[in-house]
Amino acid sequence: MTIANRLTALTDKTGAAAQRSGRNPASITLVAVSKTQPQSAVLEAYTAGQRVFGENRVQEAVAKFTDMRTTHQDLQLWLIGPLQTNKVTAAVRMFDTIATLDRPKLAEALAQEMSKQQRWPDILIEVNSGNEPQKAGISPAALPDFYADCRNRLHLPIKGLMCIPPIATDPAPYFRDLTKLANQLQLPIRSMGMSGDFETAIACGSTAIRVGTALFGERPTKG
Ligand SMILES: *Cc1c(COP(=O)(O)O)cnc(C)c1O
Repeated sequence: MTIANRLTALTDKTGAAAQRSGRNPASITLVAVSKTQPQSAVLEAYTAGQRVFGENRVQEAVAKFTDMRTTHQDLQLWLIGPLQTNKVTAAVRMFDTIATLDRPKLAEALAQEMSKQQRWPDILIEVNSGNEPQKAGISPAALPDFYADCRNRLHLPIKGLMCIPPIATDPAPYFRDLTKLANQLQLPIRSMGMSGDFETAIACGSTAIRVGTALFGERPTKG
């Protein structure tokens, strides 16, 4: 199967899942996760109509997308992996959406850098939905205060929430919780759902699914 074929299949499934839940398919963004994929794969997806891409490493995104940012100006880039504070300068310059604000120190660093560059990518707060000790993110209990601080003191353009639920469990309750939290805070973007569970995520209110394998095939290397 080509990437174009997979994109068609994915769009069909996404649309059907949206319709089953009485949702408008246009309200769901497909973030094509191109981590570890070569630029040729990104170009193939772009040619097939895909515009939003996600990378989980700043360095890799810079290498793969810097040229394409000028040659393909309607392309949008999301950071979906952990962001170290020493990479904030490059990240603010590079991405349209930073989906992984996961700690207070990073919020400070982003606020400082965004004001310095006068560039304001959309920010999503990563929620540690399962309260897993090994996982990044703000716990659901701490979210309201963290969000209030980001908005009121740091003036960060927080647009939504993202989560990666615990593996090997039914993700639906975690997805539903994220939608509830986003609604409480009146945040429009809810990024949840990957290749294995994007239909469930759509049923639970996802507005931005992050799909790698189901679009590009197995990744050439781990990432
Ligand atoms: C890799 C990755 C994805 C995509 O995973 P697939 O199972 O290949 O669709 C989505 N979200 C994040 C945060 C990832 O790191």
